[in-house]
Amino acid sequence: MIGSARAPRLPGSTGGTIAQWVGWVAAFAVVTIAMGALRDRLHEAHVVLVYVLLVHVAAARGGRTLGLFLAGAAFLSFVWQFLQPYHTWVVADPLDWLVLPAFLATILVTTQLLHRAQKEAARALQRASEIDRLSALGAETLNVGRADDALQAIAEVIRSTLRLDGCRVYALGDDDREVLLASSPCAHDSLPEDEETGARRIPLRVRDRLVGVLHVRRDSGVALDPAQERFLRALSYYAALGVERVRLVADAERAHGLREADRMKDAVIAAVSHDLRTPLTTIKALAHELASAGEGRAATIEAEADHLNRLVADLLDLSRARSGTIPFALEPNEAEDLVGAALQRVSGVLERRRVSVALDPEGAVLIGRFDFSQTLRALVNLLENAHKYSPAEAPVDLEVHREGEFLTLSVADRGPGIPPAECERIFEPFYRRPGSTPDVGGAGLGLSIARALMEAQGGAVSYAPRMGGGSVFQLRVPGIVPVDIPVEA
Ligand code: ADP
Repeated sequence: MIGSARAPRLPGSTGGTIAQWVGWVAAFAVVTIAMGALRDRLHEAHVVLVYVLLVHVAAARGGRTLGLFLAGAAFLSFVWQFLQPYHTWVVADPLDWLVLPAFLATILVTTQLLHRAQKEAARALQRASEIDRLSALGAETLNVGRADDALQAIAEVIRSTLRLDGCRVYALGDDDREVLLASSPCAHDSLPEDEETGARRIPLRVRDRLVGVLHVRRDSGVALDPAQERFLRALSYYAALGVERVRLVADAERAHGLREADRMKDAVIAAVSHDLRTPLTTIKALAHELASAGEGRAATIEAEADHLNRLVADLLDLSRARSGTIPFALEPNEAEDLVGAALQRVSGVLERRRVSVALDPEGAVLIGRFDFSQTLRALVNLLENAHKYSPAEAPVDLEVHREGEFLTLSVADRGPGIPPAECERIFEPFYRRPGSTPDVGGAGLGLSIARALMEAQGGAVSYAPRMGGGSVFQLRVPGIVPVDIPVEA
Protein backbone atom coordinates (compact mmCIF):
# COMPACT_ATOMS: atom_id res chain seq x y z
CA MET A 1 0.00 0.00 0.00
CA ILE A 2 1.20 3.45 -0.82
CA GLY A 3 2.27 5.89 1.95
CA SER A 4 1.37 9.46 2.79
CA ALA A 5 1.72 12.18 0.14
CA ARG A 6 3.41 14.53 2.60
CA ALA A 7 6.53 16.26 1.21
CA PRO A 8 9.95 15.12 2.45
CA ARG A 9 11.21 17.55 5.08
CA LEU A 10 13.46 20.42 3.91
CA PRO A 11 16.40 20.98 6.28
CA GLY A 12 16.14 24.74 6.28
CA SER A 13 12.44 25.12 6.10
CA THR A 14 11.71 25.39 9.80
CA GLY A 15 15.09 26.55 11.06
CA GLY A 16 16.13 23.21 12.57
CA THR A 17 15.45 21.84 16.06
CA ILE A 18 16.31 23.49 19.34
CA ALA A 19 19.00 20.86 19.99
CA GLN A 20 20.64 21.71 16.67
CA TRP A 21 20.63 25.40 17.51
CA VAL A 22 22.14 24.82 20.92
CA GLY A 23 24.81 22.54 19.42
CA TRP A 24 25.82 24.93 16.66
CA VAL A 25 25.83 28.01 18.87
CA ALA A 26 28.07 26.09 21.29
CA ALA A 27 30.35 25.06 18.41
CA PHE A 28 30.49 28.70 17.28
CA ALA A 29 31.42 29.79 20.81
CA VAL A 30 34.16 27.15 21.08
CA VAL A 31 35.62 28.07 17.68
CA THR A 32 35.48 31.80 18.53
CA ILE A 33 37.19 31.26 21.91
CA ALA A 34 39.83 29.04 20.34
CA MET A 35 40.60 31.53 17.58
CA GLY A 36 40.59 34.35 20.17
CA ALA A 37 43.28 32.50 22.12
CA LEU A 38 45.39 32.14 19.00
CA ARG A 39 44.57 35.60 17.70
CA ASP A 40 48.19 36.85 17.55
CA ARG A 41 49.25 33.91 15.38
CA LEU A 42 46.27 34.08 13.05
CA HIS A 43 45.75 36.22 10.00
CA GLU A 44 42.32 37.81 9.43
CA ALA A 45 41.88 35.62 6.35
CA HIS A 46 42.18 32.48 8.54
CA VAL A 47 39.43 33.75 10.79
CA VAL A 48 37.18 34.57 7.84
CA LEU A 49 37.68 31.12 6.27
CA VAL A 50 36.98 29.26 9.50
CA TYR A 51 33.79 31.26 10.05
CA VAL A 52 32.63 30.74 6.43
CA LEU A 53 33.19 27.00 6.80
CA LEU A 54 31.36 26.86 10.12
CA VAL A 55 28.38 28.85 8.81
CA HIS A 56 28.07 26.66 5.69
CA VAL A 57 28.13 23.40 7.57
CA ALA A 58 25.62 24.78 10.10
CA ALA A 59 23.31 26.03 7.31
CA ALA A 60 23.54 22.67 5.54
CA ARG A 61 22.66 20.70 8.67
CA GLY A 62 20.36 23.06 10.57
CA GLY A 63 18.80 25.21 7.86
CA ARG A 64 18.89 28.68 6.45
CA THR A 65 17.74 30.57 9.57
CA LEU A 66 20.49 29.02 11.68
CA GLY A 67 23.01 29.78 8.91
CA LEU A 68 21.94 33.44 8.71
CA PHE A 69 22.00 33.78 12.48
CA LEU A 70 25.53 32.39 12.70
CA ALA A 71 26.59 34.55 9.73
CA GLY A 72 25.48 37.69 11.65
CA ALA A 73 27.18 36.46 14.82
CA ALA A 74 30.39 35.66 12.90
CA PHE A 75 30.40 39.12 11.34
CA LEU A 76 29.98 40.89 14.69
CA SER A 77 32.55 38.63 16.38
CA PHE A 78 35.03 39.30 13.54
CA VAL A 79 34.71 43.06 13.89
CA TRP A 80 34.77 42.97 17.72
CA GLN A 81 37.50 40.44 18.32
CA PHE A 82 39.66 40.11 15.27
CA LEU A 83 39.95 43.61 13.75
CA GLN A 84 42.25 46.15 15.35
CA PRO A 85 41.63 47.99 17.60
CA TYR A 86 40.24 44.94 19.43
CA HIS A 87 37.03 45.05 21.47
CA THR A 88 35.67 48.14 19.73
CA TRP A 89 33.34 48.58 16.76
CA VAL A 90 35.88 50.87 15.14
CA VAL A 91 37.39 49.77 11.79
CA ALA A 92 40.71 51.56 11.55
CA ASP A 93 42.32 50.09 8.42
CA PRO A 94 40.57 51.40 5.23
CA LEU A 95 41.34 48.04 3.54
CA ASP A 96 39.11 46.32 6.11
CA TRP A 97 36.17 48.31 4.70
CA LEU A 98 36.64 46.18 1.59
CA VAL A 99 37.09 42.91 3.49
CA LEU A 100 34.03 43.33 5.71
CA PRO A 101 31.27 43.73 3.06
CA ALA A 102 32.92 40.98 0.96
CA PHE A 103 32.89 38.66 3.99
CA LEU A 104 29.26 39.47 4.78
CA ALA A 105 28.10 39.18 1.15
CA THR A 106 29.94 35.86 0.63
CA ILE A 107 28.53 34.31 3.73
CA LEU A 108 24.95 35.50 3.03
CA VAL A 109 24.90 34.66 -0.70
CA THR A 110 26.40 31.19 -0.24
CA THR A 111 23.96 30.42 2.59
CA GLN A 112 21.08 31.47 0.35
CA LEU A 113 22.42 29.43 -2.63
CA LEU A 114 22.89 26.43 -0.41
CA HIS A 115 19.32 26.78 0.78
CA ARG A 116 18.02 26.97 -2.77
CA ALA A 117 19.99 23.91 -3.85
CA GLN A 118 18.64 22.00 -0.87
CA LYS A 119 15.11 23.06 -1.75
CA GLU A 120 15.53 21.81 -5.33
CA ALA A 121 16.97 18.53 -4.08
CA ALA A 122 14.06 18.08 -1.69
CA ARG A 123 11.60 18.82 -4.48
CA ALA A 124 13.29 16.29 -6.76
CA LEU A 125 13.19 13.77 -3.93
CA GLN A 126 9.52 14.45 -3.44
CA ARG A 127 8.77 13.99 -7.17
CA ALA A 128 10.75 10.76 -7.20
CA SER A 129 8.84 9.44 -4.22
CA GLU A 130 5.53 10.45 -5.88
CA ILE A 131 6.54 8.56 -9.02
CA ASP A 132 7.50 5.56 -6.90
CA ARG A 133 4.14 5.61 -5.17
CA LEU A 134 2.24 6.01 -8.45
CA SER A 135 4.09 3.21 -10.19
CA ALA A 136 3.55 0.97 -7.15
CA LEU A 137 -0.15 1.80 -7.31
CA GLY A 138 -0.21 1.22 -11.08
CA ALA A 139 1.32 -2.24 -10.63
CA GLU A 140 -1.04 -2.96 -7.74
CA THR A 141 -4.15 -2.00 -9.70
CA LEU A 142 -3.01 -3.83 -12.84
CA ASN A 143 -2.50 -6.97 -10.80
CA VAL A 144 -6.10 -6.90 -9.63
CA GLY A 145 -8.02 -9.37 -11.78
CA ARG A 146 -11.38 -7.61 -11.99
CA ALA A 147 -11.83 -4.07 -13.29
CA ASP A 148 -14.16 -2.97 -10.46
CA ASP A 149 -11.74 -4.32 -7.82
CA ALA A 150 -9.04 -2.13 -9.38
CA LEU A 151 -11.34 0.91 -9.08
CA GLN A 152 -12.09 0.05 -5.46
CA ALA A 153 -8.34 -0.12 -4.76
CA ILE A 154 -7.84 3.30 -6.40
CA ALA A 155 -10.67 4.87 -4.37
CA GLU A 156 -9.14 3.51 -1.18
CA VAL A 157 -5.66 4.74 -2.02
CA ILE A 158 -6.95 8.24 -2.83
CA ARG A 159 -8.90 8.43 0.41
CA SER A 160 -6.18 7.09 2.71
CA THR A 161 -3.31 8.96 1.04
CA LEU A 162 -5.00 12.35 0.97
CA ARG A 163 -6.67 11.78 4.36
CA LEU A 164 -10.16 12.29 2.97
CA ASP A 165 -13.44 11.26 4.58
CA GLY A 166 -14.86 9.75 1.40
CA CYS A 167 -13.98 8.97 -2.20
CA ARG A 168 -16.32 7.59 -4.83
CA VAL A 169 -15.93 6.74 -8.50
CA TYR A 170 -18.90 7.09 -10.82
CA ALA A 171 -19.24 6.09 -14.47
CA LEU A 172 -21.42 8.07 -16.84
CA GLY A 173 -24.30 5.91 -18.05
CA ASP A 174 -25.88 6.11 -21.53
CA ASP A 175 -28.30 8.85 -20.46
CA ASP A 176 -25.51 10.73 -18.60
CA ARG A 177 -26.70 9.28 -15.30
CA GLU A 178 -23.93 8.69 -12.75
CA VAL A 179 -23.51 5.02 -11.85
CA LEU A 180 -21.55 4.26 -8.66
CA LEU A 181 -18.65 1.87 -9.38
CA ALA A 182 -16.47 2.16 -6.27
CA SER A 183 -16.69 3.79 -2.86
CA SER A 184 -14.31 4.21 0.03
CA PRO A 185 -15.44 3.77 2.75
CA CYS A 186 -17.94 1.21 1.53
CA ALA A 187 -20.76 2.70 3.67
CA HIS A 188 -23.85 3.73 1.73
CA ASP A 189 -24.03 7.23 3.18
CA SER A 190 -24.67 9.89 0.59
CA LEU A 191 -21.99 12.41 -0.32
CA PRO A 192 -22.79 16.09 0.13
CA GLU A 193 -23.76 17.89 -3.05
CA ASP A 194 -21.27 20.10 -4.88
CA GLU A 195 -22.46 23.32 -3.41
CA GLU A 196 -21.85 22.08 0.11
CA THR A 197 -18.44 22.70 1.55
CA GLY A 198 -16.11 19.73 1.93
CA ALA A 199 -16.85 18.03 -1.42
CA ARG A 200 -15.25 18.21 -4.84
CA ARG A 201 -16.04 16.62 -8.21
CA ILE A 202 -13.27 15.79 -10.65
CA PRO A 203 -14.31 14.89 -14.21
CA LEU A 204 -12.69 11.66 -15.43
CA ARG A 205 -11.58 11.75 -19.07
CA VAL A 206 -9.92 9.27 -21.40
CA ARG A 207 -8.62 10.81 -24.63
CA ASP A 208 -10.77 13.93 -24.08
CA ARG A 209 -13.92 11.84 -23.66
CA LEU A 210 -15.80 12.26 -20.38
CA VAL A 211 -16.21 8.75 -18.92
CA GLY A 212 -17.06 9.41 -15.28
CA VAL A 213 -16.71 11.57 -12.19
CA LEU A 214 -14.62 11.28 -9.04
CA HIS A 215 -16.25 12.61 -5.86
CA VAL A 216 -13.94 13.39 -2.96
CA ARG A 217 -15.02 14.66 0.42
CA ARG A 218 -13.38 15.91 3.61
CA ASP A 219 -15.52 17.34 6.40
CA SER A 220 -12.98 20.09 7.07
CA GLY A 221 -12.73 20.98 3.36
CA VAL A 222 -10.71 19.56 0.46
CA ALA A 223 -7.78 22.00 0.39
CA LEU A 224 -4.72 20.25 -1.09
CA ASP A 225 -1.14 21.40 -1.49
CA PRO A 226 0.40 21.34 -5.00
CA ALA A 227 1.98 17.91 -4.48
CA GLN A 228 -1.33 16.45 -3.32
CA GLU A 229 -3.10 18.09 -6.27
CA ARG A 230 -0.61 16.43 -8.62
CA PHE A 231 -1.15 13.12 -6.91
CA LEU A 232 -4.94 13.46 -7.14
CA ARG A 233 -4.69 14.37 -10.84
CA ALA A 234 -2.55 11.32 -11.61
CA LEU A 235 -4.83 9.02 -9.64
CA SER A 236 -7.94 10.43 -11.28
CA TYR A 237 -6.43 9.40 -14.62
CA TYR A 238 -5.96 5.88 -13.25
CA ALA A 239 -9.59 6.01 -12.11
CA ALA A 240 -10.67 7.15 -15.61
CA LEU A 241 -8.80 4.19 -17.15
CA GLY A 242 -10.44 1.89 -14.59
CA VAL A 243 -13.91 3.24 -15.50
CA GLU A 244 -13.13 2.71 -19.19
CA ARG A 245 -11.97 -0.84 -18.45
CA VAL A 246 -15.23 -1.59 -16.60
CA ARG A 247 -17.16 -0.28 -19.62
CA LEU A 248 -15.15 -2.37 -22.08
CA VAL A 249 -15.67 -5.50 -19.99
CA ALA A 250 -19.44 -4.80 -19.86
CA ASP A 251 -19.48 -4.24 -23.65
CA ALA A 252 -17.62 -7.49 -24.24
CA GLU A 253 -20.07 -9.38 -21.99
CA ARG A 254 -23.03 -7.79 -23.82
CA ALA A 255 -21.51 -8.68 -27.21
CA HIS A 256 -20.99 -12.26 -26.02
CA GLY A 257 -24.68 -12.41 -24.95
CA LEU A 258 -25.79 -11.04 -28.33
CA ARG A 259 -23.62 -13.54 -30.19
CA GLU A 260 -25.15 -16.35 -28.14
CA ALA A 261 -28.69 -15.06 -28.87
CA ASP A 262 -27.80 -14.80 -32.56
CA ARG A 263 -26.49 -18.34 -32.59
CA MET A 264 -29.70 -19.60 -30.92
CA LYS A 265 -31.80 -17.65 -33.43
CA ASP A 266 -29.91 -19.19 -36.36
CA ALA A 267 -30.33 -22.64 -34.85
CA VAL A 268 -34.10 -22.12 -34.41
CA ILE A 269 -34.48 -20.74 -37.96
CA ALA A 270 -32.52 -23.68 -39.37
CA ALA A 271 -34.65 -26.20 -37.46
CA VAL A 272 -37.99 -24.54 -38.33
CA SER A 273 -37.11 -24.06 -42.03
CA HIS A 274 -35.97 -27.64 -42.27
CA ASP A 275 -39.23 -28.92 -40.72
CA LEU A 276 -41.35 -26.69 -43.01
CA ARG A 277 -39.90 -28.17 -46.17
CA THR A 278 -41.58 -31.58 -45.93
CA PRO A 279 -45.18 -30.29 -45.49
CA LEU A 280 -44.57 -27.71 -48.25
CA THR A 281 -43.47 -30.41 -50.67
CA THR A 282 -46.66 -32.37 -49.82
CA ILE A 283 -48.86 -29.27 -50.32
CA LYS A 284 -47.22 -28.59 -53.67
CA ALA A 285 -47.67 -32.20 -54.83
CA LEU A 286 -51.34 -32.22 -53.80
CA ALA A 287 -51.98 -28.84 -55.47
CA HIS A 288 -50.34 -30.16 -58.61
CA GLU A 289 -52.62 -33.20 -58.58
CA LEU A 290 -55.71 -31.01 -58.05
CA ALA A 291 -54.63 -28.69 -60.90
CA SER A 292 -54.29 -31.70 -63.21
CA ALA A 293 -57.79 -32.75 -62.16
CA GLY A 294 -59.05 -29.37 -63.39
CA GLU A 295 -59.27 -27.49 -60.03
CA GLY A 296 -58.77 -23.82 -61.10
CA ARG A 297 -57.51 -22.44 -57.75
CA ALA A 298 -54.91 -25.18 -57.32
CA ALA A 299 -52.47 -23.22 -59.51
CA THR A 300 -52.53 -20.36 -56.99
CA ILE A 301 -51.86 -22.80 -54.14
CA GLU A 302 -48.95 -24.23 -56.10
CA ALA A 303 -47.49 -20.76 -56.82
CA GLU A 304 -47.80 -19.76 -53.16
CA ALA A 305 -46.21 -23.05 -52.08
CA ASP A 306 -43.32 -22.33 -54.47
CA HIS A 307 -42.96 -18.84 -53.01
CA LEU A 308 -42.92 -20.23 -49.45
CA ASN A 309 -40.49 -22.92 -50.51
CA ARG A 310 -38.08 -20.29 -51.86
CA LEU A 311 -38.35 -18.28 -48.65
CA VAL A 312 -37.69 -21.33 -46.52
CA ALA A 313 -34.72 -22.29 -48.71
CA ASP A 314 -33.34 -18.75 -48.40
CA LEU A 315 -33.74 -18.79 -44.64
CA LEU A 316 -32.01 -22.11 -44.39
CA ASP A 317 -29.13 -20.93 -46.58
CA LEU A 318 -28.71 -17.72 -44.64
CA SER A 319 -28.57 -19.44 -41.28
CA ARG A 320 -26.18 -22.10 -42.60
CA ALA A 321 -23.91 -19.51 -44.23
CA ARG A 322 -23.80 -17.45 -41.05
CA SER A 323 -23.19 -20.39 -38.76
CA GLY A 324 -20.42 -21.67 -41.06
CA THR A 325 -22.05 -25.03 -41.74
CA ILE A 326 -22.07 -24.72 -45.55
CA PRO A 327 -19.12 -26.65 -46.98
CA PHE A 328 -17.24 -24.45 -49.46
CA ALA A 329 -15.21 -26.04 -52.23
CA LEU A 330 -12.57 -23.33 -52.72
CA GLU A 331 -10.80 -24.03 -56.01
CA PRO A 332 -9.51 -22.11 -59.03
CA ASN A 333 -12.39 -21.01 -61.30
CA GLU A 334 -12.57 -18.68 -64.28
CA ALA A 335 -14.69 -15.56 -63.87
CA GLU A 336 -15.87 -15.95 -67.45
CA ASP A 337 -17.45 -19.35 -66.63
CA LEU A 338 -19.15 -17.83 -63.60
CA VAL A 339 -20.58 -14.97 -65.66
CA GLY A 340 -21.82 -17.39 -68.34
CA ALA A 341 -23.55 -19.63 -65.77
CA ALA A 342 -25.14 -16.61 -64.05
CA LEU A 343 -26.51 -15.20 -67.31
CA GLN A 344 -27.96 -18.56 -68.15
CA ARG A 345 -29.54 -18.88 -64.68
CA VAL A 346 -31.24 -15.45 -64.84
CA SER A 347 -32.21 -15.61 -68.52
CA GLY A 348 -35.74 -16.75 -67.65
CA VAL A 349 -36.23 -13.91 -65.15
CA LEU A 350 -34.66 -11.10 -67.18
CA GLU A 351 -37.06 -11.52 -70.08
CA ARG A 352 -36.00 -8.98 -72.70
CA ARG A 353 -33.59 -6.98 -70.54
CA ARG A 354 -30.17 -6.49 -72.05
CA VAL A 355 -27.09 -7.34 -69.91
CA SER A 356 -23.84 -5.98 -71.32
CA VAL A 357 -20.76 -7.85 -70.13
CA ALA A 358 -17.26 -6.33 -70.07
CA LEU A 359 -14.24 -8.42 -69.07
CA ASP A 360 -11.08 -6.67 -67.85
CA PRO A 361 -10.06 -4.27 -70.65
CA GLU A 362 -6.36 -4.75 -69.76
CA GLY A 363 -6.66 -8.45 -70.51
CA ALA A 364 -5.71 -9.59 -66.98
CA VAL A 365 -6.17 -13.27 -66.25
CA LEU A 366 -9.51 -13.52 -64.47
CA ILE A 367 -9.12 -16.61 -62.32
CA GLY A 368 -10.20 -16.67 -58.69
CA ARG A 369 -10.26 -19.17 -55.86
CA PHE A 370 -13.92 -19.54 -54.91
CA ASP A 371 -16.78 -21.99 -54.52
CA PHE A 372 -18.43 -21.94 -57.92
CA SER A 373 -22.04 -22.73 -57.00
CA GLN A 374 -22.24 -20.51 -53.87
CA THR A 375 -20.62 -17.57 -55.70
CA LEU A 376 -23.00 -18.15 -58.58
CA ARG A 377 -25.86 -17.93 -56.10
CA ALA A 378 -24.61 -14.54 -54.82
CA LEU A 379 -24.06 -13.15 -58.33
CA VAL A 380 -27.53 -14.28 -59.44
CA ASN A 381 -29.05 -12.44 -56.44
CA LEU A 382 -27.31 -9.22 -57.52
CA LEU A 383 -28.41 -9.62 -61.14
CA GLU A 384 -32.00 -10.35 -60.11
CA ASN A 385 -32.04 -7.25 -57.89
CA ALA A 386 -30.69 -5.08 -60.72
CA HIS A 387 -33.54 -6.38 -62.84
CA LYS A 388 -36.19 -6.01 -60.11
CA TYR A 389 -35.31 -2.46 -59.12
CA SER A 390 -34.48 -0.71 -62.41
CA PRO A 391 -36.65 0.49 -65.29
CA ALA A 392 -37.41 -2.22 -67.87
CA GLU A 393 -35.64 -0.51 -70.76
CA ALA A 394 -32.36 0.27 -68.94
CA PRO A 395 -29.59 -2.29 -69.60
CA VAL A 396 -27.68 -3.89 -66.71
CA ASP A 397 -23.87 -3.69 -66.94
CA LEU A 398 -21.78 -6.57 -65.65
CA GLU A 399 -18.06 -5.88 -65.51
CA VAL A 400 -15.23 -8.11 -64.30
CA HIS A 401 -11.77 -6.81 -63.51
CA ARG A 402 -8.78 -7.55 -61.34
CA GLU A 403 -8.16 -5.31 -58.30
CA GLY A 404 -4.88 -6.22 -56.62
CA GLU A 405 -5.32 -9.64 -55.07
CA PHE A 406 -9.03 -9.75 -55.83
CA LEU A 407 -11.38 -10.26 -58.76
CA THR A 408 -14.26 -7.81 -58.73
CA LEU A 409 -17.58 -8.44 -60.46
CA SER A 410 -19.65 -5.22 -60.63
CA VAL A 411 -23.37 -5.27 -61.37
CA ALA A 412 -24.51 -1.75 -62.31
CA ASP A 413 -28.08 -0.62 -62.97
CA ARG A 414 -30.02 2.58 -63.52
CA GLY A 415 -32.49 2.03 -60.68
CA PRO A 416 -33.24 4.49 -57.83
CA GLY A 417 -29.94 3.82 -55.99
CA ILE A 418 -29.66 3.55 -52.20
CA PRO A 419 -29.57 6.62 -49.88
CA PRO A 420 -26.30 6.82 -47.85
CA ALA A 421 -28.08 6.12 -44.53
CA GLU A 422 -29.29 2.75 -45.82
CA CYS A 423 -26.19 1.53 -47.65
CA GLU A 424 -25.36 -0.95 -44.88
CA ARG A 425 -28.89 -1.67 -43.67
CA ILE A 426 -29.87 -3.26 -46.98
CA PHE A 427 -27.46 -6.09 -46.12
CA GLU A 428 -29.39 -6.91 -42.92
CA PRO A 429 -31.75 -9.91 -43.12
CA PHE A 430 -35.38 -8.96 -43.85
CA TYR A 431 -34.54 -5.32 -44.45
CA ARG A 432 -36.46 -3.89 -47.40
CA ARG A 433 -36.26 -0.19 -48.13
CA PRO A 434 -39.44 1.73 -47.39
CA GLY A 435 -41.22 2.07 -50.71
CA SER A 436 -39.42 -0.92 -52.29
CA THR A 437 -41.46 -2.28 -55.17
CA PRO A 438 -43.92 -4.49 -53.23
CA ASP A 439 -44.77 -6.96 -55.98
CA VAL A 440 -41.24 -8.09 -56.83
CA GLY A 441 -41.58 -11.06 -54.51
CA GLY A 442 -38.60 -10.32 -52.24
CA ALA A 443 -38.40 -10.90 -48.51
CA GLY A 444 -35.27 -8.86 -47.87
CA LEU A 445 -32.90 -11.85 -47.76
CA GLY A 446 -31.11 -11.71 -51.14
CA LEU A 447 -28.32 -9.30 -50.21
CA SER A 448 -27.73 -10.74 -46.73
CA ILE A 449 -27.38 -14.22 -48.25
CA ALA A 450 -25.01 -12.90 -50.93
CA ARG A 451 -22.82 -11.17 -48.35
CA ALA A 452 -22.80 -14.13 -45.94
CA LEU A 453 -21.87 -16.54 -48.76
CA MET A 454 -19.03 -14.32 -49.97
CA GLU A 455 -17.60 -13.42 -46.56
CA ALA A 456 -17.54 -17.08 -45.58
CA GLN A 457 -15.05 -17.70 -48.42
CA GLY A 458 -12.86 -14.61 -47.89
CA GLY A 459 -14.70 -12.37 -50.35
CA ALA A 460 -17.12 -9.45 -49.94
CA VAL A 461 -20.21 -7.76 -51.33
CA SER A 462 -20.59 -3.99 -51.16
CA TYR A 463 -22.65 -1.18 -52.56
CA ALA A 464 -21.59 2.08 -54.27
CA PRO A 465 -23.71 4.73 -55.93
CA ARG A 466 -23.43 4.82 -59.74
CA MET A 467 -22.36 7.98 -61.56
CA GLY A 468 -25.37 9.40 -63.39
CA GLY A 469 -27.83 7.53 -61.12
CA GLY A 470 -28.36 3.93 -60.11
CA SER A 471 -26.47 1.34 -58.08
CA VAL A 472 -23.26 -0.62 -58.41
CA PHE A 473 -23.08 -3.81 -56.34
CA GLN A 474 -19.57 -5.25 -56.18
CA LEU A 475 -18.83 -8.88 -55.51
CA ARG A 476 -15.21 -9.63 -54.66
CA VAL A 477 -13.45 -12.99 -54.59
CA PRO A 478 -9.81 -13.80 -53.87
CA GLY A 479 -7.95 -13.87 -57.22
CA ILE A 480 -5.14 -16.10 -58.44
CA VAL A 481 -2.12 -14.71 -60.28
CA PRO A 482 -0.83 -17.37 -62.69
CA VAL A 483 2.90 -18.05 -62.36
CA ASP A 484 4.87 -17.74 -65.63
CA ILE A 485 6.34 -21.14 -66.43
CA PRO A 486 9.61 -20.79 -68.37
CA VAL A 487 9.39 -22.52 -71.76
CA GLU A 488 12.15 -25.10 -72.22
CA ALA A 489 14.37 -24.50 -75.26
P1 ADP B 1 -35.28 -8.21 -51.62
O1 ADP B 1 -34.81 -7.82 -52.97
O2 ADP B 1 -35.74 -9.59 -51.52
O3 ADP B 1 -36.18 -7.21 -50.99
P2 ADP B 1 -32.53 -7.88 -50.87
O4 ADP B 1 -31.81 -8.27 -49.63
O5 ADP B 1 -32.02 -8.43 -52.14
O6 ADP B 1 -34.03 -8.24 -50.62
O7 ADP B 1 -32.50 -6.31 -50.97
C1 ADP B 1 -32.84 -5.52 -49.83
C2 ADP B 1 -33.37 -4.19 -50.26
O8 ADP B 1 -32.34 -3.45 -50.89
C3 ADP B 1 -34.45 -4.28 -51.30
O9 ADP B 1 -35.71 -4.40 -50.69
C4 ADP B 1 -34.31 -2.97 -52.03
O10 ADP B 1 -35.00 -1.96 -51.35
C5 ADP B 1 -32.85 -2.65 -51.93
N1 ADP B 1 -32.13 -3.02 -53.17
C6 ADP B 1 -31.45 -4.15 -53.42
N2 ADP B 1 -30.89 -4.12 -54.64
C7 ADP B 1 -31.21 -2.92 -55.18
C8 ADP B 1 -30.92 -2.28 -56.42
N3 ADP B 1 -30.18 -2.88 -57.36
N4 ADP B 1 -31.42 -1.04 -56.61
C9 ADP B 1 -32.15 -0.44 -55.67
N5 ADP B 1 -32.47 -1.00 -54.48
C10 ADP B 1 -31.99 -2.21 -54.23
